Amino acid sequence: STSLALAFERRKRERINHNFEARPIELRRDEILSGVTGLIGNTPLVRINSLSDALGVEILGKAEFLNPGGSVKDRVALRMIEDAERQGLIHPHTGSRIFEGTSGSTGISIATIARARGYEATIIMQDDVSQDKVNALLSLGATVERVRPASIVDKGQFVNVARQRAMDFGRTHAEAPTDRPNVLSSTPSTLVVSTSADDGEASPSDNTDFIQRPRGFFADQFENRSNFEAHFDGTGPEIWRQTNGDVKAFVSGAGTGGTIAGVGRFLKSMEDDISIVLADPEGSGLYNKVKFDVMYSNVDSEGKKRRHQVDTIVEGIGLNRLTRNIELGLPMVDTAYQVSDAEAVAMSRYLVKHDGLFLGSSSACNLVACIKFIKEMGWNSGEKVVTILCDSGSRHYSKFWNDEFLEKAGIPVDLSILDALLSSS
Ligand code: PMP
Repeated sequence: STSLALAFERRKRERINHNFEARPIELRRDEILSGVTGLIGNTPLVRINSLSDALGVEILGKAEFLNPGGSVKDRVALRMIEDAERQGLIHPHTGSRIFEGTSGSTGISIATIARARGYEATIIMQDDVSQDKVNALLSLGATVERVRPASIVDKGQFVNVARQRAMDFGRTHAEAPTDRPNVLSSTPSTLVVSTSADDGEASPSDNTDFIQRPRGFFADQFENRSNFEAHFDGTGPEIWRQTNGDVKAFVSGAGTGGTIAGVGRFLKSMEDDISIVLADPEGSGLYNKVKFDVMYSNVDSEGKKRRHQVDTIVEGIGLNRLTRNIELGLPMVDTAYQVSDAEAVAMSRYLVKHDGLFLGSSSACNLVACIKFIKEMGWNSGEKVVTILCDSGSRHYSKFWNDEFLEKAGIPVDLSILDALLSSS
């Protein structure tokens, strides 16, 4: 439609300069890989046959659920940990501990990689995320702390608790009298450093004692640029290569924004005409930000503090505040679609019924947005649209894949919702 075309033009003008270089990637499926981290990334692209056939558009899903930690977040956790090692912030097998606030997937990825590389992990989550994720974390030997859902301005909010725990750990393990920086975040906006006056010029790598000491690292996926880089260097180039550059649109939800920012920027740097489309669960503020350039504040009109994460059955995506990674992504986003819980549920059941694909809630949300976008564009000539299949349904037995739970929550399991979407024009 014309309004969509106009929005595209506006976004294009606003797009900030990006001149990143494409890095070569290798698909390593025929090699023997080194350890669990060798299994991360280079995921296949799968054609969603039922939807592609129904619409006459190639709908291709990046099968991130095949990562060893079970989600797209393996890429991010690996990159954050590797970057922290490169910066000398943590060292394997020294009792160092990684702290993170997460809806679960990132925690599972961190816990997996921590085990493989000689770290401990403490994961802080809201107590309303699915028990399946908690069980996975405990099996991986992570320390799990569950906190009440709270606004971002509250000390008890999960990200704030994770930052605080990392600081406390740093203090506990600081060696008197040389209290050199022990807890560092890689991101200046939330830099947490405890340091003594006599630190001088000493660099951590000059000092063996310093290196040996257990250190706390707050991974900080919302603000940490390594998150963006994992997708800019990995997911984006992989999609480009797997489609031979023949891709018309990329559709993704945003939880931290790392995926849409990294993939979006990479794809736009290769071909400016690729549409970047946000899939947003109802209740998230990002849709309004993209469409009308307004963002909720931390406090609603009744003065109630707002949670930065969204109250929806769709776990892992949606955001009510601007973080560094989503800010890298928003200038790339051409348009957005809101997806209801009922639509996401219908999509997930439809995909099992027709394709045998058992996916998590954010994947289903992405695919609903794919259909809405394709319908609005009027595409039906084999255009390629790529999206992310973030995780599998097995992470969601207790909520999204639990019909009894959905019924109690007033969310219908109604496949006709999807038939209506597919047949709409
Ligand atoms: N899907 C799931 C299951 C997730 O856990 C997340 C991350 N919170 C996302 C999608 C969103 O990815 P991103 O953080 O890169 O925006």
